[in-house]
Amino acid sequence: MTTEFNIIKQYFDRPCAHTDLGVGDDAALIQISPGHHLAISADMLVAGTHFLADCPAFDIGWKSLAVNISDMAAMGATPKWATLSIALPNVDEVWLAEFSSGFFACAEQFGVSLIGGDTTRGPLNISVQIIGEVPNGKALRRDGAKADDEIWVSGILGEAALGLAALQNKLNENQLSHSEKDTCIDALQKPEPRVGLGVALRDIAHSAIDISDGLMADLGHVLAQSHLGAEIYWHKVPHVKVNRLDESTLQGLSLAGGDDYELCFTAPKNKRAEILSIGEQLKLKLSCIGVTKEERSIHIFDADHQPIELKVKGYDHFN
Ligand code: ADP
Ligand code: MG
Repeated sequence: MTTEFNIIKQYFDRPCAHTDLGVGDDAALIQISPGHHLAISADMLVAGTHFLADCPAFDIGWKSLAVNISDMAAMGATPKWATLSIALPNVDEVWLAEFSSGFFACAEQFGVSLIGGDTTRGPLNISVQIIGEVPNGKALRRDGAKADDEIWVSGILGEAALGLAALQNKLNENQLSHSEKDTCIDALQKPEPRVGLGVALRDIAHSAIDISDGLMADLGHVLAQSHLGAEIYWHKVPHVKVNRLDESTLQGLSLAGGDDYELCFTAPKNKRAEILSIGEQLKLKLSCIGVTKEERSIHIFDADHQPIELKVKGYDHFN
């Protein structure tokens, strides 16, 4: 018979690294490295809101951990431990096996141990808590940006939002080629958290955030908490390029689309060369897209320095 304990044993109990006591007792026991903060964050994935009902279980497992690891990256923290609280509508062994493979594939790639959690029956809901470490005083915070910092982003923005539009059949026939569609759906369902970048930026960036709700919304949090404004140059934004989509659609996808899980960070201008060489070492595109300003408003300009009005704002779960 499949009991709650069999499910835990079979799908969620794997060997743990840097852990004194993992799954199986009332609580896990871990030791924190001397001179470090614990960085702790949680993210919940709800069926229908954060993934579509027919999303492959492997990808749901991957993404539920990856979005949490992305928060560690954004803090400049090294992810180490995770807990998983999961509500399942029924015991579907095929689904569980795939979910667990996806979760642990991500855990292994980023050196994270699953040390505990909770398993219960209910509408599909996956709640992961992530715990990492960052040396005291080195965390990349949202409130650390300074006026005249350069604003940078990693990777390419808008692919995930385009993948979602494709899955929701919001695109016309032939707007995306098969391979563009695959790339975008992969970006949506299997994001790569930028942990190496976050760690490399500890002594370089003044502030950082991961882009989960759209660049403008998330950069907006950094600017608000740092009491700053910004100028953004659209032609410098590394955006998804599809000839069959018009410019304002591309702007909406890249500036306001969600689920990129790239990092947006600010750094003083004299760090430019160091930042570019980090990008080369990590084989990760890093683009300087603007500057922060004392004046607390955000302006986006095109290549001719004409202001751009964004029609779509970032994602808000309550709107
Ligand atoms: P308790 O009743 O004391 O809360 P549980 O019976 O819920 O304990 O869980 C037993 C053990 O299995 C605990 O160590 C818990 O952390 C772990 N556990 C439960 N669900 C999961 C899960 N989905 N993933 C990882 N560990 C889990
Ligand atoms: Mg419990």
